[in-house]
Amino acid sequence: MKITFLGATGTVTGSKYLVESGARRILVDCGLFQGYKQLRLRNWKPLPIDARSIDAVLLTHAHIDHSGYLPILVRQGFAGKAYCTHASADLLRIMLPDSGHLQEEEARLANRHGYSKHRPALPLYDVAESLRALESLVPVDFETDLDLGAQVRCRFTPAGHILGAAMIRLETPKGSVLFSGDVGRPNDPIMLPPGVTAAADALVVESTYGDRRHPAVDAQAELADAINAAAARGGVIVVPAFAVGRAQTILWLVSRLKAQRAIPDIPVFLNSPMATNVTQIYGRHLGEHRLTLEQCASMSTAASYVNSAEDSKALNLRHGPLMIVSASGMATGGRVLHHLEAFAPDPRNMILLTGFQSGGTRGASLAAGDPTIKIHGRLVPVRAEVRQLTSASAHADGDELLDWLRRLQWAPRRVFVTHGEPPAADRLRQRVQTELRWAAEVPDYLETVEPLERGIP
Ligand SMILES: [Zn+2]
Repeated sequence: MKITFLGATGTVTGSKYLVESGARRILVDCGLFQGYKQLRLRNWKPLPIDARSIDAVLLTHAHIDHSGYLPILVRQGFAGKAYCTHASADLLRIMLPDSGHLQEEEARLANRHGYSKHRPALPLYDVAESLRALESLVPVDFETDLDLGAQVRCRFTPAGHILGAAMIRLETPKGSVLFSGDVGRPNDPIMLPPGVTAAADALVVESTYGDRRHPAVDAQAELADAINAAAARGGVIVVPAFAVGRAQTILWLVSRLKAQRAIPDIPVFLNSPMATNVTQIYGRHLGEHRLTLEQCASMSTAASYVNSAEDSKALNLRHGPLMIVSASGMATGGRVLHHLEAFAPDPRNMILLTGFQSGGTRGASLAAGDPTIKIHGRLVPVRAEVRQLTSASAHADGDELLDWLRRLQWAPRRVFVTHGEPPAADRLRQRVQTELRWAAEVPDYLETVEPLERGIP
């Protein structure tokens, strides 16, 4: 059995792992690179392996950095099936066309304002290609063995990260490998804790927050504090939120805070048609999260939905106090950019970051306190208060990752630490080695390993 790391090395984006067992070639995750330009350029280069040679794709979850390359893989000739959980399939039916739409929009704006070096600027892929990719999806149940042929089987176990998110364990004639996917937290307001799975000979584990400990702050209290501070000065709170996961957590917490009268009854807008559609899906997957049908309904009604582009623009003319939740979460694209352009220059306003901000994104610049950010080729001054909700992460921190690893019944022979920026990945590697005494390493981009061959350290 061989594993080749085609992404999520030195970065949290671009997750793609090729597993080869006998004649079978299976791609685990099929994500887009995001963030630094040097990484994003990889999305444009041909995949280092022949897409036609891949027999099946397994998607841990629907986030675009784990799934958004699928339309390109299909364009390059992948003709197999892409397996994912039912909730992930529901989400992907919304997210992949949206991703295609965003790519088209970006190319259109670049052509209109002339800020791309390419004439004309082309989209990475379009909506039609996203729809074609959806045809390859095959939804599967959690905790059910799936036969991939050639004596290779796999099983999806809940990972607690977002709706539908799974860890995937592959069993081959030569041994087993477990991919953690993105690991959720034990006490997420909406998601259930990560599940327990059988151990495996090799383990590929994420390390987004491998070098950090999330503060023991209550998410609800932290959010109330931010909203009250901005509302008191009549400010507009712009919340860049991942349309899947973070946006729903924010809405759920807002609905609870309002019910408890812990915050003033300010208008809240959800300006992301995708997040709106995603919010409706939670009710279809009861039992996969903590909310009842009734609670799903109060989450859905916590905000006014903004659909048309005109209504979205009209929001920029309104005065605070009010709150706008809009995608994308790292401010890499989407409608939130227009709101940042409009509201970042005013010190009464607040920009509330809600999740991990990958290096090279506008979100990372905001978190670092940069006085300007570039939007649509223009420098926008940032005078608004920038806060980061430290408690709202959908990823386990270092301690929580180790706790999850300790629950495996036996020690893997080799651990590969991926999906982290270099300091985070290396810190988790050290901790796995010293605290668990397991052999751990941080693989390089395009590195191929044969984890179960004897004689390799
Ligand atoms: Zn994710």
